[in-house]
Amino acid sequence: MVHILIVEDEQRIASFIEKGLKSHGYLTTTVGDAQAALTLAMSEGFDLLILDLGLPDRDGFEILADLRGQGSKLPVIILTARDDIKDKVSGLEGGADDYMTKPFRFEELLARVRVRLRTVKKTSTTKPLTLAAHNVVLDLRTRRVKVNEEWIELPAREFLLAETLFQHPGQVFSRQQLLDRVWGYDYDPGSNIVDVYVGYLRKKLGSSLIQTVRGVGYRLRR
Ligand code: CA
Repeated sequence: MVHILIVEDEQRIASFIEKGLKSHGYLTTTVGDAQAALTLAMSEGFDLLILDLGLPDRDGFEILADLRGQGSKLPVIILTARDDIKDKVSGLEGGADDYMTKPFRFEELLARVRVRLRTVKKTSTTKPLTLAAHNVVLDLRTRRVKVNEEWIELPAREFLLAETLFQHPGQVFSRQQLLDRVWGYDYDPGSNIVDVYVGYLRKKLGSSLIQTVRGVGYRLRR
């Protein structure tokens, strides 16, 4: 199922888009702030991002810049009230695939979504939908985790950390590499946040799944 990430802080608009896309068979996830948006967009679970520019914590352009800066090729449609040609140009030059202004008709948004998804299908190879190791399965579409046959929910950042380790079983990641991949710019350099989150994952997924490599970092047990 196609999964679309909607970043929109205005509840009324968010639910309008959500309802429309759902009724056309798309799976949607909506967030209203830039921080959550970037974390989710950097995960592998989405096919398309619909991005508002005016967000409470950061500007949508910054999310786009971070995404592209970290190598993400996730298709992005900017949907904003800003109709200045300068904004349009910086959006498209900043790596957005399309730019649409509010107010808008849902039919037009849907048409643009379909065009983007069609282009992606042609150019990208199929992504795996799940990653599995030992008794744990990560579902990259729904962002849920199955542990010993039972489904559980993980907060976005924990999921992203698990996903990073599961993508490369046996490979050792330094704390710095994990910080870069999972937290991006958003951490205090002196913090032990990686160790704390590895602790969370061990508690939820099993204590022996993630091994400590002393003096180096962590790896997923093969
Ligand atoms: Ca807004």
